[in-house]
Amino acid sequence: MAQDMTLAGQIKVVSFDLDGTLVEEAFDNAIWFEEIPQRYAAKHALPLSQATERVLAEYRALRGHPRWTDMGFWFERFALGDWRDAVAARRHLIRLYPEAAEVLRALSSRYRLVIVTQAERKFHELKLRTLRLGEQELRAAFEAVFATPDHFGRLAKDREVYREVLRRLGIAPHEMLHVGDHSEYDVAVPRTLGIHALHLDRRGMCQGPDVIHDLRALLPLLLP
Ligand SMILES: [Mg+2]
Repeated sequence: MAQDMTLAGQIKVVSFDLDGTLVEEAFDNAIWFEEIPQRYAAKHALPLSQATERVLAEYRALRGHPRWTDMGFWFERFALGDWRDAVAARRHLIRLYPEAAEVLRALSSRYRLVIVTQAERKFHELKLRTLRLGEQELRAAFEAVFATPDHFGRLAKDREVYREVLRRLGIAPHEMLHVGDHSEYDVAVPRTLGIHALHLDRRGMCQGPDVIHDLRALLPLLLP
């Protein structure tokens, strides 16, 4: 408990991953694993299973491509028409996790809040808009959204990304707490720089002092 008190005393900025942390993954999954394969199947008159296989093989083959997370790139590459139509069809799947808004509201009274995401601009802007976290609301809730493909020309949240985030925010590593659902990119990597990090494990598979299962667990730590 003494350590928790220390955490609240040290932290100035609380940083969140977006997908799987604040926003449900249903929308992304529907685009990558349903819309694109379905459109590919229709275009090439293939059974869906075969189309899915080909699409997934192509995802694997191009991993690391600078536009890998850009849905527009895949719609162009496979000639599947306008990505905006697919988005419109699946937009209802963009949802915040149930506890996210309440937790953000509570934390915003005392902390600077930011998002550090690997999501490409089309995705994260659409999500934030759909969630009414666009424009003014976004500015009110979050000081900044750092998206690795757009701001850093990188796919992954590596050490350089976190270092640059600290620099732009003008804070020391121990003044930031990052929260995310990926044990490597959201936890292990920022920790190598001395950033506090918590692993959000919504499935309840992991246990430990640095694992939380729900964003509400941040409240007693940060607003004791
Ligand atoms: Mg995530």
